[in-house]
Amino acid sequence: MKVLVTGGAGYIGSHTVVELINAEYSVVIADDLSNARHEVIDRVQAITGTRPLFYQINCADKRELQTVFTRNEIDAVIHFAGFKAVGESVHKPLQYYRNNLDSTMTLLEVMEEFGCKKFIFSSSATVYGPENPHPYKEEMPAIQSSSPYGWTKVMIERILTDYTTAHPDFCAVLLRYFNPIGAHESGLLGDDPNGIPNNLMPYIARVAAGQLEKLTIFGGDYPTPDGTCQRDYLHVVDLAVGHLKALEYAKSHVGVEAINLGTGNGVSVFELVQAFEKVNNIKLNYIIGPRRDGDLPAFWADATKAKALLGWEATHTIEDMCESAWGFAKNTSL
Ligand code: UDP
Repeated sequence: MKVLVTGGAGYIGSHTVVELINAEYSVVIADDLSNARHEVIDRVQAITGTRPLFYQINCADKRELQTVFTRNEIDAVIHFAGFKAVGESVHKPLQYYRNNLDSTMTLLEVMEEFGCKKFIFSSSATVYGPENPHPYKEEMPAIQSSSPYGWTKVMIERILTDYTTAHPDFCAVLLRYFNPIGAHESGLLGDDPNGIPNNLMPYIARVAAGQLEKLTIFGGDYPTPDGTCQRDYLHVVDLAVGHLKALEYAKSHVGVEAINLGTGNGVSVFELVQAFEKVNNIKLNYIIGPRRDGDLPAFWADATKAKALLGWEATHTIEDMCESAWGFAKNTSL
């Protein structure tokens, strides 16, 4: 089976490509490298012994995408490609809507042209918005978000739902990720954002590496047990395996299905910092600063649907996540 992975050179995409190759799928990557490095393709080859086919294209470019589909008989698409910085999306909404929506719609048009009917979408827990109580369950109204980035996820879920209604032989799996962190055990793949990281774990890793002076914990006065925000952190390799399971599910199903990928547990910023310090034997320099706009105090997944439908559950611990994240950061900061 041949799978097109858009955004396959990115953080979650590259880990998924490794799992796909290990499970003997034939993989084609489409990535414009706007937030990824070409080197990742070499690293995937070093880990798996197989070099995935790579096209440096933007998925909103219909001609280029048609070329990929003409040259390869694509059976399924896993769509990661998209802009993902929450804060940036607030300042550049048009870029986010244009890029994320256009690439998805172009992909669907080209898939239709070539008779490809299996679609796995990289969605996010952000679609539950600020109103739903946690743990988040898939049947809750997922029609809100607090940033243009999040709204692109809500809108793309809607587009895929309407498209599937109009094409009952199509299968779309909407994977709602919680907070993926950690890295591949080889130390070759991980989260390596350009510039100063927005997300917690890559920020911690750069403080540990001495590249950033200190971590600012955003808010210590939340109504949570230790006053810091709680999130459902899951290991990126568990998340990658979730995509494989979703693909297997899509092979024998039609229709649209939203599925949470999370552990079902909340971990606070403090707890994550402490786990990182302990498992890696490093002291992190941090201060408690003001809350960050738009952050919710606490949320985590109800992860029962993923287990029931996909036979998937997270297996890695917070310690695994902290250890592997540092293993990768050490490699890249040398
Ligand atoms: N966070 C923090 N300092 C940072 C970055 C993040 O305290 O430099 C906190 C943030 O307030 C949130 C958690 O870490 O509670 C996870 O944030 P992240 O941006 O990684 O993911 P989000 O849950 O916002 O998608």
